[in-house]
Amino acid sequence: MKKHWQYANSRGTSAGSMICQLCGKRIEQGLFRYAMTYKGYEDHVYVCQHQECSKSDAGWVAYVATKHEAKRKMKERLKAFKEFKTKWDTIELDEDIEYMEESLKRIA
Ligand SMILES: [Zn+2]
Repeated sequence: MKKHWQYANSRGTSAGSMICQLCGKRIEQGLFRYAMTYKGYEDHVYVCQHQECSKSDAGWVAYVATKHEAKRKMKERLKAFKEFKTKWDTIELDEDIEYMEESLKRIA
């Protein structure tokens, strides 16, 4: 059965044992993919693989592109919010600005 891979950053996401199925090492940083596989009738486990170990997967291209696009949009919004804040001398956007600045630091 074809696996439905999900792509994630190990910072913030965890799936199953977090041991790479391909190299046998623990996934401690960076990107990885995971998929649920069934063992028997109801039992399931997550299979995990480092991005480095599964580079041939074309799904990585789309995942990384989506992330870059999200980051680009957030940067654009952050800039607009800061300009608005300066122009109107308001504190209403402070929480959003702080949230976006923190998020941008976390997006690899
Ligand atoms: Zn690996």
